Formats: sequence, structure tokens, C-alpha cells
Amino acid sequence: MAKRSSSPRADRPVAPKDARRAFDVLVVGGGMVGAAFALACSGKGLAIALVEARPPQRDWPKGELDLRVSALSRASQRMLERLGAWSRIAALGASPYRRMHVWDGVSGGAITFDSADLGEPDLGHIVENRAIQLALWERLEQAPDLTLISPASIADLERGPEGSRLVLGEGRILETRLLVAADGRDSLIRELAGIPTRGWDYDQQAIVANVRPMQWHQETAWQRFLPTGPLALLPLADGRCSIVWSATQGRAQELLALDDQEFSDALTEASEDRLGRIQVQGPRAAVPLRLQHAERYVEPGLALIGDAAHAIHPLAGQGVNLGFLDAAELAAALDLALRRRRDIATLWTLRRYERARRGENMAMLMAMDAFKRAFGSRFPPLVAARGLGLALTDRLQPLKRLFMERALGLAAGLPPLARP
Ligand SMILES: Cc1cc2nc3c(=O)[nH]c(=O)nc-3n(C[C@H](O)[C@H](O)[C@H](O)COP(=O)(O)OP(=O)(O)OC[C@H]3O[C@@H](n4cnc5c(N)ncnc54)[C@H](O)[C@@H]3O)c2cc1C
Repeated sequence: MAKRSSSPRADRPVAPKDARRAFDVLVVGGGMVGAAFALACSGKGLAIALVEARPPQRDWPKGELDLRVSALSRASQRMLERLGAWSRIAALGASPYRRMHVWDGVSGGAITFDSADLGEPDLGHIVENRAIQLALWERLEQAPDLTLISPASIADLERGPEGSRLVLGEGRILETRLLVAADGRDSLIRELAGIPTRGWDYDQQAIVANVRPMQWHQETAWQRFLPTGPLALLPLADGRCSIVWSATQGRAQELLALDDQEFSDALTEASEDRLGRIQVQGPRAAVPLRLQHAERYVEPGLALIGDAAHAIHPLAGQGVNLGFLDAAELAAALDLALRRRRDIATLWTLRRYERARRGENMAMLMAMDAFKRAFGSRFPPLVAARGLGLALTDRLQPLKRLFMERALGLAAGLPPLARP
């Protein structure tokens, strides 16, 4: 066994059972984004609480890989460094990827992005979600201004001009001036607050699994666009790859029904043997895909961040990277309000966050949607155009550089964060 938390507070049940407590900021959802936001708020003189349904996994057998991993951009890495969580993430396991090779399964057009072209050591890191969450939680447990309440369920939410009252399952009442929903794509807080979303189901599922290719993955993220959906092979430091294979419902059901050998054959064929024979190792899981965007991110006393605000197709691995930028911008908006001695929960404060993020997120959601549609088509002129587009872009260094800087978040200015 490895990776046990060294924090002295790690195993204590969190939060005393007072019947009623009041906080300045109450975050619901202690996943990667909610935990990062709570940490970014620490050290500002605020009383913060974080309510999470399931406590993070504390340890796991050495070498065992979780199915959920994220490709973290350089901007996300910078943020996690500033929050003091990156060194722990690196110790738990972060696999750098230095190149990305994308090819079209129909036209054959291809493009390669190389970190060396940017003078950077890598394009980002592949990290297990549970490692990111644990590293953040260990920091949260050391923050004196933070109360962690987990496991917990939400029974009711009442909102008024002075703030919100959250009733937990076992009857405890938490009051707050600012409620932050970081409770994921199916956010209960967003639903209780009556904030509608727009979007559509993709009629696709993302199959996730861990695999071992016969050949070295060359620290390259491989992505092939197939008419049924994109297949991504994300390189891990031990030579394995984590796959995200998005496929139409029908194809996904077929793939899930295959035994390990048949699935490995299908995967080897879908990747055109680029890494030789690929053998699946361990279980597979599937996540239904949806594009979803909240109509507003803020109301007086309430803000949505991360997947509670937006859900994006995973084809470019942007979801949590966008969520971390939300967390940084909202924390920066609170900072500004505090410096100007303004209320942290008013629209004046919160709209600054919404203005900074909603348009950016919308643009990324739409860009990924357009990619998904363009590469899902077999319509010959479109196939020819995307083949040509990939080949041209591959040769146009300035354009390629622009794409890379944007995708890696190198161009994104990270708002300053108070270090907890
Ligand atoms: C197949 C796949 C691959 C992906 N790959 C990438 C990638 O490579 N890079 C990337 O950037 N993104 C990727 N994403 C997206 C990324 O996983 C999400 O954007 C990210 O998990 C969102 O984080 P979050 O903290 O906002 O929400 P979540 O991860 O959903 O966390 C929400 C938290 O809230 C808690 N919660 C929920 N309801 C309640 C409640 N009522 N009370 C208390 N707590 C509650 C949950 O237990 C959970 O801990 C991928 C997504 C998928 C499906």
C-alpha cells in the first residue's frame, strides 16, 4: 500500500456537529474544482466551509491506476503550484506528455504538436483525478480558516437577501453569505437555485480504460478521429496509456460487450496499429456525453463553477482546466471586493467572475462542439477540407503555435492567488 496522507488531520471525521454554523463562503462539492477554489479562498480572513458527499480516497495499491485521469494544461499546473498542491501531485504520479499527434481516420490528414517548438519541456501532464483531489484535500486540512464537512448530503436550500441556509441530511444547518456550487454536471445546488442550462446530449459515450501498448508511446498523446467519435491514448509514465474512446451509443454498447481480447483487438485496429498491439488491463467504464452550459453563473449570494457551470465534450481534455480557471477568477473577484471593502456576495463582485469566464467557456464549448461535428462527418467535401486543413495547419508554424498556446493555457493570464 502506498500514498497514505501524512496530514495529522487526515483521518478525523470533519466538522464538529454543531446544529447551526455560519460562514462567509460555503462551497458545495469538494471535487477537483471545488477543492481548488476553497483553497484559493483560504488566507483572506474569510470563514470557509466545504461540503462534500464522498470523502476523497486516501490510498490505493501501488501501481493501481484509476479510470479517471485528466490531461492538465500548464495553466492548471501553475495554479496547483501556487496552491501548494503540485509537489504532492507529482509525488502521487504525474506523467508528462511532450507531443500530441492527431489524425483523421477518414481523410488521413494529420497534425503533430511538439513542446520543443514552444521551447517548453512538455505540453502538460496526465494525472489521476483522485491524486489531484487528494493533494488539494491535504492542503485544505491544514488551513485553519476552513471547515470540511464530509460525508454529507443536502436536504434543503433556502435563499434570502442576507444569504443562504443549507440544511444537511442529518439536520445540521449551515448559513452563508456566499454559496458556491462546485457539485458537478448534475449540480443539485444549480437545480435548487432554479438556474436553467442549455445544451444537448451527444448520443455518445466515452469509454475509459487503462491499456498497455506493445510499443513505447513516446510520451505522445495520440488522438484519432473516427466517424463514430474520437479515440485518445494518453501516455503514462510507466508505459501504459489511459484511453478515452468516445463512440456513438450503439458502437459504445458493442465495445462494452466485448471480452478483453476482442476489445483489445478493436482498440488496436481503431488506433491503426500506431503503438502495435494494445492490451486492455483492468475494468472499463462509460460516461454519457453532453454539452451543457448554465444560463447564468451568478446571482446575488450564489456562484457556479466547474462542471456545475459547464460540461464539455472530452475530446480536447479541457473540462477541469476550464474549471480551475473559473476557481482562480472567482477567488480573484472576492479578493478585489475584500480589498475595496465591498460585500463578497453582491452582483457587483460576482459579475466580474462571470464576465471573465462565461464567454471564454462558451467559446471553448462551441469550438469543441464544432470539432466533434466536423470530424464525425463522412460528407466527402468536409472530409477533404479537414484533411487539407490539418495538413496546412501542420505546416503553418505560427498558426500551430497559436493553437498550442491556447490549448495549453500558456496564453491565459492566471489571476493572482493569495497563497494559503
Ligand atoms: C471521459 C472523460 C475524460 C475527461 N478528460 C479530461 C481531461 O483530460 N482534461 C480535463 O481538463 N478534463 C477532462 N474531463 C472533464 C473533467 O473530468 C471534469 O471537467 C471535472 O471532473 C469537473 O470537476 P468538478 O470538480 O467541477 O466536478 P466533479 O468532478 O463532478 O466533482 C463534483 C464533486 O461534487 C460532489 N457532489 C456532487 N453532488 C453533491 C452534493 N449534493 N453534495 C455534496 N457534494 C456533492 C461530488 O461527490 C464530487 O466530488 C473529462 C471528462 C470525462 C467524462
